[in-house]
Amino acid sequence: MSTADIIARCEALYEDLDFTAARKWKEADPSRKVIAYMPVYVPREIIHAAGMLPLGIMGGGDGLEVIHGDAYYQSYICRIPRSTIELGLSKRMDFVDGMLFPSICDVIRNLSGMWKLLFPGKYVRYFDVPQNYKDDVGGSYYTNELNELREGLEHLSGRKITDDALRASIEVYNENRKLVQAVYGMRSREPWKVPSSEVYLLMRAGLVVPVEEHNQILRDYLAAAEKVQASKRDNCRVVINGSFCEQPPLNLIKSIELAGCYIVDDDYIIVHRWLRNPVSTSGDPMQNLSLAFLHESIATAAKYDDKEEDKGKYLLEQVRSNAAEGVIFAAPSFCDPALLERPMLADRCSEHNVPYISFKYAENSGQMQPIREQAGTFADSIKLWS
Ligand code: SF4
Repeated sequence: MSTADIIARCEALYEDLDFTAARKWKEADPSRKVIAYMPVYVPREIIHAAGMLPLGIMGGGDGLEVIHGDAYYQSYICRIPRSTIELGLSKRMDFVDGMLFPSICDVIRNLSGMWKLLFPGKYVRYFDVPQNYKDDVGGSYYTNELNELREGLEHLSGRKITDDALRASIEVYNENRKLVQAVYGMRSREPWKVPSSEVYLLMRAGLVVPVEEHNQILRDYLAAAEKVQASKRDNCRVVINGSFCEQPPLNLIKSIELAGCYIVDDDYIIVHRWLRNPVSTSGDPMQNLSLAFLHESIATAAKYDDKEEDKGKYLLEQVRSNAAEGVIFAAPSFCDPALLERPMLADRCSEHNVPYISFKYAENSGQMQPIREQAGTFADSIKLWS
């Protein structure tokens, strides 16, 4: 199988706003349930251990006309909540049994309340995470949260989630994290062979198919990409920051590449890379998931940071470890977490002589020419003066 074949399948999954693959998975067995989740992170291992399909919802992208969703939010709010409401009201998510709203911002918090009102009878949970990283404080709190989620899913499915099932699920997701990191590593080493638009589609596929299938897709891609013959271009290497929730249109990612930038790291769809290391499979699985969140989460604006001096450390590490030459701050319009953190991260970049540019987008942005010009000028300036 070639990379083109694999990416064609991933692109079809990405464009399918009726979630046909997830519907088919559910239809294959009447006892199956699907639990959807919003960006940025939920412990999918618990859903998987319940025998359910975790389904990542990233809004409607640029393929959905938002008609009803606009009535629920003011015009100065990002687009992902409106298009998600549109997905719900247009019955594209009628097969979904439950929905998790991770704690990122007030918009998502409000959306979880709206979802409860709009879809009574569905399992809805606002999934809170700790803002204290001590094992006996934030860790205990988060373990309780995880146990409440476990009980909620047990109630929904009518069956117990055993510790053994959780350990087995953690193992499958550890494998997924390893494969995802392998794809990211290959792109960082040879970005001319592994375009970012392809990496992005590979990761999007992982939101809508069972993790075992995603693991196979990643293995197939890694094997096929090894055989790709492509010439290295005189592009500059950049890290993308700020795109962790509402996603840019695929064309925006392609435009950055066409403008002469190799994206060597990013924060797109970070649920796959939220935990940097494997989660332990021995001992208490809930505690292991809790401690992994506390000590292995990547640092993004979506995660509360209690140490001012750590701000920007992770971004600078991304730059250093991927030999990046610059940072592109690309955040959704009106995204409070990303845009509030941006000036602090930009200061860190300036202090360390890392060039950067900034722009905003919406998931349905259509005009790519200004972005292509800005990214192209940035790439040229790095090549000429850095
Ligand atoms: S894009 Fe930003 S503001 Fe909007 S829901 Fe996501 S995190 Fe919140």
